[in-house]
Amino acid sequence: MAVCNGVMRVMCMGALFLSLAVPAKAFQVSLFVPRNDTVFWASLVRLTRAAAHDLELDLVVYSAGNQGDTMLSQVKAACIRGTDGLLFMNYEHLGKEILSISEEHKVPAFLYNTGFEDPLMVPRRHYPYWIGSMTPDDVRAGGLLAERLIRAGKRSGVGEVRMLAIEGNPHEKSSADRVKGMKTVVAGRGDVTLYGIANAGKGWSRARGRQVFLSEYRRHPDINTVWAAGDDIALGVLDAIRDLGLDEGAVLTGGIDWSAPAVESIRSGANRLSIGGHMLEGAWSLTLMHDYLRHRDFARESTVFKTRMHAIDSGNVDQVRAFLSDNWDRIDFAAFSKYLNTTLLYRFDLPHLLDTFYPKTNAFEITAEERRWLADHPTVRLGIDDNWPPFEFLGPDGRYDGMVADYVRVLEERLGIRCVYTRGMTWSETLTAMKEKRLDMIAAIGAISQHKEAMRLTSPFLSFPLVVITNEQVDFVEDMEALAGRTVAVVKDYSEHKILAGEYPHIKVLSADTTVDALAAVATGKAYAYVGNLAVANYTIKKERLTHLKVSGTVPRTLAISMGVRRDWPLFAGLVSKAMGSISEAERDTIYQRWITLRYEHGVDYTLLWQFLVGAVGVLAVSIYWNRRLSIVNKALKKEIDVRVLAEEALRREQARVKVMAVTDPLTGLYNRRKFAEAFPLEISRLRRSGRYLAFAIMDIDFFKQYNDHYGHQMGDEALNRVGALLLRRCKRGTDYSFRLGGEEFGLLFLARDPDRALAFMESMREAIAGLAIEHTQSKVSDVLTVSLGLVVSDSPTDIDTMYKTADQALYRAKDSGRNRTEMAAC
Ligand code: GH3
Ligand code: MG
Ligand code: MG
Repeated sequence: MAVCNGVMRVMCMGALFLSLAVPAKAFQVSLFVPRNDTVFWASLVRLTRAAAHDLELDLVVYSAGNQGDTMLSQVKAACIRGTDGLLFMNYEHLGKEILSISEEHKVPAFLYNTGFEDPLMVPRRHYPYWIGSMTPDDVRAGGLLAERLIRAGKRSGVGEVRMLAIEGNPHEKSSADRVKGMKTVVAGRGDVTLYGIANAGKGWSRARGRQVFLSEYRRHPDINTVWAAGDDIALGVLDAIRDLGLDEGAVLTGGIDWSAPAVESIRSGANRLSIGGHMLEGAWSLTLMHDYLRHRDFARESTVFKTRMHAIDSGNVDQVRAFLSDNWDRIDFAAFSKYLNTTLLYRFDLPHLLDTFYPKTNAFEITAEERRWLADHPTVRLGIDDNWPPFEFLGPDGRYDGMVADYVRVLEERLGIRCVYTRGMTWSETLTAMKEKRLDMIAAIGAISQHKEAMRLTSPFLSFPLVVITNEQVDFVEDMEALAGRTVAVVKDYSEHKILAGEYPHIKVLSADTTVDALAAVATGKAYAYVGNLAVANYTIKKERLTHLKVSGTVPRTLAISMGVRRDWPLFAGLVSKAMGSISEAERDTIYQRWITLRYEHGVDYTLLWQFLVGAVGVLAVSIYWNRRLSIVNKALKKEIDVRVLAEEALRREQARVKVMAVTDPLTGLYNRRKFAEAFPLEISRLRRSGRYLAFAIMDIDFFKQYNDHYGHQMGDEALNRVGALLLRRCKRGTDYSFRLGGEEFGLLFLARDPDRALAFMESMREAIAGLAIEHTQSKVSDVLTVSLGLVVSDSPTDIDTMYKTADQALYRAKDSGRNRTEMAAC
């Protein structure tokens, strides 16, 4: 094995370097913009810089001066010089070329502002280094602008809307999409005349906007509305109107972009409205890139993000003006990073931004008595249904997840409590455990009278419709009476079980332990129908491939879901109600959107799901005819579609989770050995640019066999878990990785400025583990659990095997020379 002298030398000089080293920022990200001389782009750049500041990233901004070629060479130059990430756009259809450059240099790239026409161009498919995208819904923005202008016109008494539209650069997708949205709204409206679509040229400029309007006005002096693809163009139109000496209100004008001068002009009354939100995309994309670089991959939520666009008009201009007027420092972009706020849900829109900008509302008071109670009860035993997706379930990585889980996490955070989940129980067992006070709380339970006796219910926080599912041969279940005398499968003690038993005595109920069992009873003919929640049923049918089932009807009941607290804890029930009540509408909306919004992702096989759902919708169509209760059923139909979307989302997440699971150790949540093999080459290439050392340590618990023998395997697992959690906590930098390599052996891979620091980092880790003070009376070296480490440091690592072997030998020496120590080697 080659020993690099350089390492040894620097090891001796480490002390010198320590005092001279200047802390460099961890990551450098490059932002590419087409121009920076329009207000929109200047604002986008400033906002992105503000985010970089909050996230402690280096940001380098490249402006292409409206030249596609320039942008391409800038991307190349940035990659050659060395950058950790690219924020790019599909400017003038150059996206694919930019992606090829990113692939060639293995630099992760994030698309913002302008996306691809081709629906198959999605992140992480053909270009693995293309990690995600965030683009505005330009079609919607264009449509929204047209709609709001027409509405404003009608309100101010304009009989016929005579509109001129002015586009930006037609070769940019954003302009084309906005026009498309506008056309959709205008088409087919007899009371709107579109005089044409004029062109403001490549630069979308104010001067051209003015010019275009002047010449169009000569031809159509009765124009009363101008739709402008960009705010600068709209301002140019307003300049022209002033020059022409027309009344300010004579021509209603609106644009897109939320540029500050346009917003000012809305305040003064000249400009009607501005649609926007997307100028934050640079900042949001940077936040996602930041999380990715620090190994908190946003793909767990989605890889494709759409910016919601909002209208600013005279009604809300004062509220948003404050943060649009260069007051960026008051926005804390760190608040949007999941790496920095582990419980957060990604959410990038105006209301959320205002939440971080203005002090939080919805605060709630905790009395002194309640505070004492909480101090006495730091943990709460929570009953969950781990098999009820997408509401609550255990992901393949063992994590409690779903809409309800999101609420529980907010609750934990607001009350400062920790919920201990009891897993693997059937629903009936959970209810019994609750009755016997072996559980303190149930996360989600139907708000029905039977349950009210057994526990204290909070006000409902979710509700959903119930459906009837049968075999394909059954045409249609008109109403619940049609099930009289039939056997209907339900999950034992679920609310629908109680509803059927209480309200439909003529139905024979077959109670099953789980949704799978209940549906299987229908599939095998043991039961005629199943009654339950469509989202849950749908998910299960797909997963278990019960292909011959379909939705045949609905139950005229909406089931509301509450949290349940044990009867003898009234104080806690009050606290839960308060905390749940403090969840704002916007937060509820976030949780809802997170689970029900269908995010666009390809490559998922929806065939089965669609077959099933087409059946469901067909049945409802028949039911419309049958019952002639159009409005009621339509409402139900809409709900079903919402729920369907929800089910698809759960499916997609399930798939994303399988990917995560492949590199995650289920016991500790650390990366597994497979990820180690992946991360190693990546770090080598990063190392080449950074001029640092690659350090790898194997950490092994001392006398762990004795620990297991004495305390039992479960306590052993618990100890592994606590060590794992500590590693996760301490490996905070973007270049730190922690793995469970197997058994009671962990791996740590990180970049260090010099070997001394690497050693110091590992020693602090070793001390921190002893500091956990996990009692270990059987250890021969200490009375608490300790670890030994073998560390290897290299400035020119070649292969993973040599590095591993060297670390292993060092570990052996550490064990041999007394344990509870770190031995370092160079390689
Ligand atoms: P040393 O100080 O030399 O490392 O001694 P040791 O007892 O820790 O090492 P040895 O390799 O003899 O024993 C490792 C033990 O770790 C064996 C097994 O009981 C325990 N172990 C391995 N994997 C797991 C696990 O997933 N859970 C639990 N609870 N124990 C494990
Ligand atoms: Mg071992
Ligand atoms: Mg050991």
